[in-house]
Amino acid sequence: MNRTNHPHNTEINVAGNLVGGKKIAVMAGPCSVESREQILSIAKDVKKSGATFLRGGAFKPRTSPYSFQGLKEEGLELLKLAKKETGLPLVTEITSMEYLDEYIENVDIIQVGARNMQNYELLKQLGKTRKPILLKRGFSSTIEELLMSAEYIMVEGNENIILCERGIRTFENFTRNTLDLSAIPAIKKLSHLPVVVDPSHGTGIWWMVEPMALAAVAAGADGLLIEVHNDPENALCDGIQSIKTDKFASLMQKLKLIVESLGREI
Ligand code: PEP
Ligand code: MN
Repeated sequence: MNRTNHPHNTEINVAGNLVGGKKIAVMAGPCSVESREQILSIAKDVKKSGATFLRGGAFKPRTSPYSFQGLKEEGLELLKLAKKETGLPLVTEITSMEYLDEYIENVDIIQVGARNMQNYELLKQLGKTRKPILLKRGFSSTIEELLMSAEYIMVEGNENIILCERGIRTFENFTRNTLDLSAIPAIKKLSHLPVVVDPSHGTGIWWMVEPMALAAVAAGADGLLIEVHNDPENALCDGIQSIKTDKFASLMQKLKLIVESLGREI
């Protein structure tokens, strides 16, 4: 994936949507799928505001085993329903190979979470598929380690990889993580793969999502992964960093100004 051997940007075709080209990909939705009403309502709202993908976790790798672990199979079914109703392609995390066939059939972008970035057996299996993969940076991983994890997928033959900066652990504890915006130009220099930024996990604070989303696109990101919820106060996961649907609508309006001034599209 080295720029030297591959000077042009890779554009990944996800169900007819190109990621890594002129158009900014906006992947929005709740941290976790919680109910039929919740996912359908959020999906319709983010679609109306211009999101291009629906995100939502069904299998959740949580730090504590006592936290909500996701609706699992039922969550996937609800995502499929939301896709059917809105037409939005799906981004959702895989946590084990057990459901790989199900993901290949129904998920448009398979997310590998920060905790699994160095799960090499999982990466190799995903490399044998041709599905687009959203590979998130581990919270203690260097850019080089992220690129090497992408390489594990590529050597098996799957070049459809989108890299995601989602914040790293530093001594600063005001924010949940430190969003490393300098990773965007760094990755762009080293690799031809598209880069997406997740300001929700990157900051852990809902009111920081908009400024960091705007900054990420200004710095050259090809897309955003944003947690949006219809009732963040009562969310089962990551409510504190989730923006409400009306806030997402206004974020998209501001984003449009930046995107247009860069000669890109949204
Ligand atoms: C998520 O996207 O909901 C998630 C769990 O992200 P990360 O793997 O970056 O913590
Ligand atoms: Mn989350």
